Amino acid sequence: MTSGNVIRGSRVGSGPERFGERHVPAPRRPVSYWCRNDHRVDVPIAADAAPPTLWDCPRCGLPAGQDPADPPGRARPEPYKTHLAYVKERRTPEQGEALLAEALAALRRRRGGS
Ligand SMILES: [Zn+2]
Repeated sequence: MTSGNVIRGSRVGSGPERFGERHVPAPRRPVSYWCRNDHRVDVPIAADAAPPTLWDCPRCGLPAGQDPADPPGRARPEPYKTHLAYVKERRTPEQGEALLAEALAALRRRRGGS
């Protein structure tokens, strides 16, 4: 007789725990990044991997770097711009000349017309 081994007793949920399949997280180390809005984010980086140079700040979306004193994307030192500087950005010198000529012509017309 070979019966008795055909149907194995089995209950739902009674399976043995499979320790071998448990996920073992790789060792990580926190790497800190700072964006130029002074947001700090600690990113767990795999211990055996080189951390990326930049990390997107999760709070403002700007790129963040590992040097808090020199975050990437810092605005170029333009402490103050005059109104003229802004105008020069918007208009070429040629446009400026044209505008000036137009204004002078209008001025002369007004003066000459009186
Ligand atoms: Zn930020």
